[in-house]
Amino acid sequence: MSSSAPSDTSKEAVRPSNFLRQIIEADLASGTHAQRHWGGSPGDAAHHAAGVPDPAKVRTRFPPEPNGYLHVGHAKSICLNFGLARDYGGVCHLRFDDTNPEKEDQEYVDSIIDAVRWLGFDWAQIGERPGVAAPYQASDYFDFMYRAAEYLVETGNAYVDEQTPEEMKVNRGDFGKPGVNSPFRDRSPAENLARLREMKDGKLPDGAAVLRAKIDMASPNINLRDPAIYRIKHAEHHNTGDKWCIYPMYTFAHPIEDALEHITHSICTLEFEDQRPFYDWLLDRLREGGLIAAPQPRQYEFSRLNLTYVITSKRKLKHLVDNGIVSGWDDPRMPTVVGLRRRGYTPEAIQLFCERIGVTKDYSWIDYSTLEGCLREDLENKAHRGMAVLDPVKLVLTNWDEVMGAGHLEPCSLPALPHPPEGVEAPVRHFTIGKEVWIEREDFEEVPPKGYKRLFPGNKVRLKGGYVIECTGCEKDADGRVTQVLATVVPDTKSGTPGADSVKVKAAITWVGVADGVPAEVRLYDRLFTDAQPDAGGKDFLALLNPDSLQVVTAYVEPSLAQARPDDKFQFERFGYFVADRKDHAPGKPVFNRVTGLKDSWGK
Ligand code: ATP
Ligand code: MG
Repeated sequence: MSSSAPSDTSKEAVRPSNFLRQIIEADLASGTHAQRHWGGSPGDAAHHAAGVPDPAKVRTRFPPEPNGYLHVGHAKSICLNFGLARDYGGVCHLRFDDTNPEKEDQEYVDSIIDAVRWLGFDWAQIGERPGVAAPYQASDYFDFMYRAAEYLVETGNAYVDEQTPEEMKVNRGDFGKPGVNSPFRDRSPAENLARLREMKDGKLPDGAAVLRAKIDMASPNINLRDPAIYRIKHAEHHNTGDKWCIYPMYTFAHPIEDALEHITHSICTLEFEDQRPFYDWLLDRLREGGLIAAPQPRQYEFSRLNLTYVITSKRKLKHLVDNGIVSGWDDPRMPTVVGLRRRGYTPEAIQLFCERIGVTKDYSWIDYSTLEGCLREDLENKAHRGMAVLDPVKLVLTNWDEVMGAGHLEPCSLPALPHPPEGVEAPVRHFTIGKEVWIEREDFEEVPPKGYKRLFPGNKVRLKGGYVIECTGCEKDADGRVTQVLATVVPDTKSGTPGADSVKVKAAITWVGVADGVPAEVRLYDRLFTDAQPDAGGKDFLALLNPDSLQVVTAYVEPSLAQARPDDKFQFERFGYFVADRKDHAPGKPVFNRVTGLKDSWGK
């Protein structure tokens, strides 16, 4: 149960307000929830009444259905719900919405727990040791849900309907047409109760009957036209086994889950706005009957996250996985939490992103570059710098042996962090320069285009952190492809020595020594789709896959990068942010993923 981030990792101490914060602040000011008691665990009215004044000022919840991996949209909901609880002295419950018997999977449950923790949140009860309490499971409330169903039947608020599904559909009407009452609608409570018990006892086959709330078949809100609340399903449940052959509908189960957990603010996405009247109707009935504690939970809706170039439907993401279009749920191109993590995103960057995009009721799209910007902001002063050559060609310093000594390797160093935190000495990276170094193929032009400042015959540049060199030419193969660039080293120009400024150059290029550079697999990821809204307007998302979303190159990296541990993040100078792959990177076999470039290059 419950609770909030152990530490406040977001950069902004003062968070921008939003309509949900205003609602909570108003409730706290007027004491809406001040009188609540908490029974120490979820339960009915009596259970909570026997408890203590609730130590949590507010209770929110994050209620995923364990039928897939969480994605960036869920991350928004997690940061929102756990963040509000953290900021207002409350707790946030992690609750598995596992009322549907068919689709649960322990793999998904485990991955959701990991994702919430990794994002920086916990659900330990206030006053308990953090992390020990198990998340809640909605299926633990089946007994109460059934009791609530019998209560509704007894009070004339629900009936067993034995129309065929087709009849029910036709008789529900539509937006312009009121519904028609079921012929079973006026059965007596006693008759209904007997029939409900037969449903529960397995006497009826799947689909033979449903329990419906008795509200108003003419309501302009179709969700109030006697919604189904229990259906027959002879299926095993992962938690309750074969105890039940009837299962509650989501719209019935969800308000009850909130009520038993004494949730104060039940925050969901806008699709559920039309369900709110039923949410309130149901909890009003149960509170009147003394079954649930007062005050009952209230539902509030916000607009879901739409992120450009990204799909956030679990079903469609599963399709990508099942059909091998990506390597798995944690493919670094996936918008899943595990995918973002493997790609190199940090929890801090994702939290910052969620703060920054805010919470509204407006339909809008967030540009993917916003997420990347948050990552850059987080890593700018954290990620150690390093040089890597992604498209290597060898550069030979033809006078090296003569002026520096045959086989000589000169030690060099550069700061690993240009702006270390105050009071901390800048970490330093060490590497060597010798007769041969790797440079980027694009850093040499035999015939330079106008304005080109890097290597061409007769031009001088600095090898960053090393020496000034002067290009003398190149060697080529039979196809005219450059196989080696030739240059001479200018002695006494080593970076950091008094002679460093004696020769002025217009460019410094990145490089890696042939002697101590280490070959590395570098995975250059790009967006998975070519269309900014691959999932909108009935488009076929599979036709919009980016064929160039992954390019793998063999690069050379400086020794400090080769020593990376999995998950370590770096800024490869001039190229952007990279992470040592958490699955495939190993000592002696470095594998890096590109998280994002240094600047916003989207749409360019
Ligand atoms: P999907 O449709 O992909 O299966 P879902 O909404 O059915 O997603 P749930 O497991 O039911 O997935 O969602 C858990 C919580 O996450 C819900 O409260 C839901 O509102 C929220 N959520 C899901 N997608 C988004 C999104 N894109 N933006 C914000 N919140 C989201
Ligand atoms: Mg759902």
